[in-house]
Amino acid sequence: MDFSGQVAIVTGSSNGIGAEAALGIARHGGKVVVNYASNKQAGDDIVAQCKQLGGDAIAVGADVSEDANCKMLVEAAIDQWGQLDIVVNNAGTTKFMNHDDLDGLDKTDFEQIYALNLIAPYQMIKQARPHMKKSSAPSVVNISSVAGVRGIGSSIAYAASKGALNTATMSLARALGKDKIRVNAVCPGFVGTDWFLNAFGEEIFNQISEGQKAVTPMNQVAGAKDITGPILFFASRFSQHVTGQLLVVDGGMLLGMPAS
Ligand code: NAP
Repeated sequence: MDFSGQVAIVTGSSNGIGAEAALGIARHGGKVVVNYASNKQAGDDIVAQCKQLGGDAIAVGADVSEDANCKMLVEAAIDQWGQLDIVVNNAGTTKFMNHDDLDGLDKTDFEQIYALNLIAPYQMIKQARPHMKKSSAPSVVNISSVAGVRGIGSSIAYAASKGALNTATMSLARALGKDKIRVNAVCPGFVGTDWFLNAFGEEIFNQISEGQKAVTPMNQVAGAKDITGPILFFASRFSQHVTGQLLVVDGGMLLGMPAS
């Protein structure tokens, strides 16, 4: 795998799955815009690690649920390196709410979740397209979820946003094919990041983790690093004839357990 001479933006890459994706691209020689929303120190730390690994990186603070910030993020890549080859749309949000509690979600919840999980990837791609079409190997990787494949997960609004991201991935792959821009999505199952830890604390996090292990044929749960390979596969030339695809990365969880 070789990202030398290539420039990537990874949204939400100061932590978790996005941080590991940024580090993976840098490890293979790429230049990365590391994006954070609020934690500048974490963004700077990932930049330092990218440089240690032999890549180059800059940290840019931007809430990508704001359209203007998507434009700013793309401009940051162009100002720094004059090109853009790869966009990993990773930043996401949720509200944890039981699916049978219909009063637990209001219009604002849907709007906030859709703004980051669906509209931000669209806006990023829209801003990136004129630059990416000049690349010899342009690729977009959307970080979706098994929630969007099966209508499961933290809330109905979250599952619906990721389901919409999955169909947008197919639509955009078709629309941008003429520009040779590939668009694919990785759909992780449970990943043991701060996403759950911050929401529930350590004790409940461990319970969720054990529960997920128990319903997964491989009897293991993923860490952020386990999602990196599939992201880099889609980002790289290794998948140069693959577009519009959703890759479930869940240790077999969606298969369900054997009947006996
Ligand atoms: P995480 O560890 O909580 O990290 C979230 C990252 O996104 C941080 O760098 C955060 O920056 C950034 N971020 C948050 N809001 C942002 C915004 N408005 N604009 C730009 N950046 C923002 O999360 P994660 O578990 O790695 O999740 C990453 C993606 O994977 C999400 O799209 C999520 O839906 C998806 N996913 C996660 C799981 C899972 O089990 N964890 C499963 C399936 C799919 P700050 O710290 O500065 O806010």
